[in-house]
Amino acid sequence: MATEMDKVDVVIVGSGWAGGIVAAELSKEGYRVVGLERGKDQKMEDFIGAKDELRYSSRHGMFQDLTKETITTRNTENEDALPIRSNSTNSINGTDTGGSGVHWDGATYRWWPYDFEAYSKTVEQYGEDKIPEGMTLQDWGITYNELEPYYDKFEKTAGVSGEEDPLRPGRSDEYPNPPMRGSQVTSLFKQAANELNYHPYHMPSANMSQQYENPDGETINACVYCSFCGMYGCDFGAKADPIVTVLSTAQKTGNYELRNNAYVTRVLHNEDKATGVLYVDTQTGEEYEQPADLVVLAGFTFANTRLLLLSEIGEPYNPDTGDGVIGKNLTGHFGFYGVSGFFNDKKFNLYAGAGALGATLSDFTVEQLDHNELDFLHGFEPRVVQSGSTPIGSNGVPGDTPTWGEEFKEKSLYYTNRNFGINIQVGNLPWAHNYMDLDPNYTDFIGDPLLRITCSFSDQDRNIARYSVEKSKEIMEQMGADIIEGSEITDETEFNETTLTSHTAGGAIMGDDPQTSAVNNYSQMWDMENLFVVGASSFSTFSSSNPTGTVGAVAYRAAEGMIKFLKEDGGILVEKN
Ligand SMILES: Cc1cc2nc3c(=O)[nH]c(=O)nc-3n(C[C@H](O)[C@H](O)[C@H](O)COP(=O)(O)OP(=O)(O)OC[C@H]3O[C@@H](n4cnc5c(N)ncnc54)[C@H](O)[C@@H]3O)c2cc1C
Ligand code: SF4
Repeated sequence: MATEMDKVDVVIVGSGWAGGIVAAELSKEGYRVVGLERGKDQKMEDFIGAKDELRYSSRHGMFQDLTKETITTRNTENEDALPIRSNSTNSINGTDTGGSGVHWDGATYRWWPYDFEAYSKTVEQYGEDKIPEGMTLQDWGITYNELEPYYDKFEKTAGVSGEEDPLRPGRSDEYPNPPMRGSQVTSLFKQAANELNYHPYHMPSANMSQQYENPDGETINACVYCSFCGMYGCDFGAKADPIVTVLSTAQKTGNYELRNNAYVTRVLHNEDKATGVLYVDTQTGEEYEQPADLVVLAGFTFANTRLLLLSEIGEPYNPDTGDGVIGKNLTGHFGFYGVSGFFNDKKFNLYAGAGALGATLSDFTVEQLDHNELDFLHGFEPRVVQSGSTPIGSNGVPGDTPTWGEEFKEKSLYYTNRNFGINIQVGNLPWAHNYMDLDPNYTDFIGDPLLRITCSFSDQDRNIARYSVEKSKEIMEQMGADIIEGSEITDETEFNETTLTSHTAGGAIMGDDPQTSAVNNYSQMWDMENLFVVGASSFSTFSSSNPTGTVGAVAYRAAEGMIKFLKEDGGILVEKN
């Protein structure tokens, strides 16, 4: 029998960027908010001196414990899915206070206007026939211009250090901080890109170029380019993360209580209203019920989708008929591609860096490419990132080098500081056959079904990946590399557990029609007006650049909707189509 806690105004599942933003905005308004976080508590002080590559990079010390809860994957409906059991093949997701936002790298992009109206803009520009059969492109029910103020708000909260992209549509304001310092690598990339008549710029970064106070009065320190950034918490308080920003803001109001080791298992509800959540204290095994007027799921794509399915809220997606919405439009960056360059006559100082210290260009993005001549939709953004080499993980040698012995040692020494890569992220667009549901065979540590992913690549995915590698090789050549090696994409290249990344979206997508979407553009469930599902689970398509800027924007918009909902005593906030 679960212990019933005192009712609060709002209960939020998760304490990452999405949950943290909602917590800050609602507790500032005076609402009593409880946050439930399955992982342990952690603070900036816990990261002091923790530059332990073995613990954090190799053994994934900040990621979720896959022996307790994981996800299963398969390619097609006819196969049995298997659980992911190792973070080293694929680090699924963060856990603990602050979620993945603590050990993220900090690359903070906006997405393209096209992304929010992918269906309409494709049809308008190329005609309906350009959309391959089975691709389930859908508009979000909100435009870039409508979302722009929320991007601006998130960038100011996170103190993004950036340089204007010459090819992006206008911003309402400048970045709150100047770009990070350049390095030999970023300079060489920019020089080569300029020579090729592209438009390079410095990557927008949530690693601070200077000390900064955000609009909530939170101070984020200046980055010291320590190199132990992505996969690590920042002990300098120099990476914008939920702990040093939004969670701190929420806690200062006195209206926010964060309970750790609280694993939420169900959304409690009657026919059309959520009444609270059920959770287990993972340290004692005790079960609790937390009643609330408003329930917010902010546990990231996988947890949000799974909790809706477990709680039987919304109609599960059926890939055969296309009916239903929960689990639909699984998208993301499925696999990171790249090109490596090895230099004989140049040496770089690669052991200094920061998670999002880099240079990139938008010349190959969806709005710059003419898809009439191309065998794919959308685009990509090649970039160099000097995140800082680490002693165990970085040992770049050309591909034909033996993996042990004298030659391996010789080349390891020679190429130290003489090699780096161009990284490429390709957004995988939605298909009817890529979706999430509950696994009939595998359960978590308390016996609930795991989330199952069914996903396979199409020609579109392989064609864009091949094209992006070829174009990136040309840039690497212009940079003067003596040996150039790129990811090999063959007709057999296929989605598998290693290609699933922490940039995964969908499952409770946003739209203007309850028949085809789970939430409206305030992240409010169409079917349950006091349940908001916030984060990448609401993205109905994916873009070429990183997702968290959009997670932040969508979360600020959702928080605004929640306040409106609570003040106006309920109601669906957006007219149904
Ligand atoms: C190593 C790494 C580097 C990254 N770098 C970048 C980058 O440079 N740029 C970028 O844009 N993105 C990056 N990302 C992705 C980014 O971290 C995520 O987009 C972002 O953190 C998502 O925020 P969120 O709040 O939606 O989810 P999360 O940060 O995952 O937070 C969700 C929280 O919910 C909790 N939770 C889940 N289920 C339950 C449950 N049942 N009960 C209670 N609590 C639960 C989790 O423990 C977690 O703390 C990176 C990710 C990783 C792993
Ligand atoms: S590189 Fe900068 S932001 Fe990243 S962990 Fe080090 S000091 Fe912090």
